[in-house]
Amino acid sequence: MIVEPRVVAYINSLDSGNSDICNLIEKEALNDNVPIIRKEMGNLLKVLIALKQPERILEVGTAVGYSSILMSENMPENCHITTIEKYEKRIPEAKENFRKAGEESRITFLEGDADMWLKELKGKQFDLVFMDAAKGQYLNWLPLLLDLMPVGAVLISDNVLQDGDVVQSRFAVQRRNRTIHSRMREYLYELKHMEEFETAVIPIGDGVTI
Ligand code: SAH
Ligand code: MG
Repeated sequence: MIVEPRVVAYINSLDSGNSDICNLIEKEALNDNVPIIRKEMGNLLKVLIALKQPERILEVGTAVGYSSILMSENMPENCHITTIEKYEKRIPEAKENFRKAGEESRITFLEGDADMWLKELKGKQFDLVFMDAAKGQYLNWLPLLLDLMPVGAVLISDNVLQDGDVVQSRFAVQRRNRTIHSRMREYLYELKHMEEFETAVIPIGDGVTI
């Protein structure tokens, strides 16, 4: 937890909630330990979509489709989502959830590694990108994403503070988490220093950049 639990609980208690199908998928995912976005993050995504009014959304990391469906229910009518997932176990579940939510026609599901798909998508443009996959890859994917984003596009990345680990010294972090710790620090440094983006790091959920 990055923010005091009672603060999070209070803020989330104010939420007016999502559709029944979203709530159901969220409940199932939490039961099955699928790492879906937290409530605060879902709320932030909804606000950013309302502000940006995107036409083309790209998501990296579908899992079972929870965040895609949440976005699709809150995006403009003419908007389309492309989402990428490589984990074979989750692919059929995501497909089934898109069908249940009646969103199949507004969500293009790309099965396979984002490494491949982000290159394959070259030439396409997305005005809102949601990064929520392998944390150690964010930095490597950044140049590929830049190619896909026109001026004015918004990049949102989830889990950038790794439950607070990222702000700790490298030596305070468990050895097995050190590679990801240093990669995430490099990613944040890069985002904050590159000319193309103006970035805010926001300590809600598991840490978010916009
Ligand atoms: N956005 C989802 C949660 C995604 S969890 C939601 O909030 O509902 C992160 C997902 O990224 C996992 O399912 C994992 O399998 C996937 N992933 C990790 N590395 C990937 C890669 N290189 N290519 C495609 N998917 C990847
Ligand atoms: Mg996440």
